[in-house]
Amino acid sequence: MYEDLPPDVERLDMLAKHLQTQLDRVREQWNTKGTAHGDLPGDPAELDFVGKWIALTLRRVKEQREEADTGTQPWRSGRPPGFVLQHVRTGENVVGKGILHRPDCPMADGKRLSWEDARLALQERTISVTEPCTECRPDEDLRAG
Ligand SMILES: [Zn+2]
Repeated sequence: MYEDLPPDVERLDMLAKHLQTQLDRVREQWNTKGTAHGDLPGDPAELDFVGKWIALTLRRVKEQREEADTGTQPWRSGRPPGFVLQHVRTGENVVGKGILHRPDCPMADGKRLSWEDARLALQERTISVTEPCTECRPDEDLRAG
């Protein structure tokens, strides 16, 4: 269970519906090159950022909904096929840092890594500073696997 989300199916359904509407509006904004909705960013990079966060939240709401319904966490079962290393700039003229994701994380955007490379990246910090994503928690998979 995500502590920041409601535990009951009714409110989760309501949230999911609302988020889906928002996501549809972001897509419309994207398809009309930022002209469809005055309350959404016109800049593609900002719009993409907003859309990713809405998608991420919607995914978590759906997972919570499934757990509320079935008492299981199916998205946590099974070994993911690998991981994704996202490169994030932390300032001008800086190498930046890496954020490791599960491949199904909506924020995952970058280079595919094998289990072994992902473990090395986190443990030995071979790729500058690598941190696990705080949403999809790939470090939990690596510890369990
Ligand atoms: Zn992630």
